[in-house]
Amino acid sequence: MGTAYYHILTDEVLDADDFWLSKMQGELICPQCWLVNAPEKGIDVVLAVRDSVHVTAVSGIPVLSREFLGALGGSVLLPYLHTGRVLLPNSEEMPNLVAVKGKQIVYLRGRRESKCCRCHTCGHLLYGAGHARNRRYILRSQLRPGWPVYESDTWQLVVSAPLVDAARRRRWGKVWFEPIRVVDEPEDGFPTDLEEFDRTGR
Ligand SMILES: [Zn+2]
Repeated sequence: MGTAYYHILTDEVLDADDFWLSKMQGELICPQCWLVNAPEKGIDVVLAVRDSVHVTAVSGIPVLSREFLGALGGSVLLPYLHTGRVLLPNSEEMPNLVAVKGKQIVYLRGRRESKCCRCHTCGHLLYGAGHARNRRYILRSQLRPGWPVYESDTWQLVVSAPLVDAARRRRWGKVWFEPIRVVDEPEDGFPTDLEEFDRTGR
């Protein structure tokens, strides 16, 4: 089966403002597992200094350049994302950057080497995909009909292949695109619905 989606990855980093981050850790970010308990709205991100990249995640919140978001289809994706502003400590907005949160999260699943547990502090499910390179997948049951974009459990975007193919006509620096398969049955021995993980005792 061909590639249906790409996971958009980068090692680009934008540093978060310390004051904003400590406030977030008291409110939305679990101090132990760093998962963002995202509300059903966009989150404003505050950077430490003026800087820009095309793709990154700041403390678990994906941040894209408007140029890159536009190349992926822009308005085609926006109904499926919550968006927030990217600010500097003096409240100045960085107009070329946008913070996004997927309205639907998908787990990138692996094989038998994968691990699953729950955070002792917030109870969130933590999944580590054991996988050979380029062999991660999402389960068909997690997909919603016609949705072109999801957020992965590792805080990056999973975007449908035709949109990514269009964006890849340009170079984006240190950004790469991991092909993601769609399969019907998990290959890691965990339940199809990972939220049932505790109940099955694995
Ligand atoms: Zn936690």
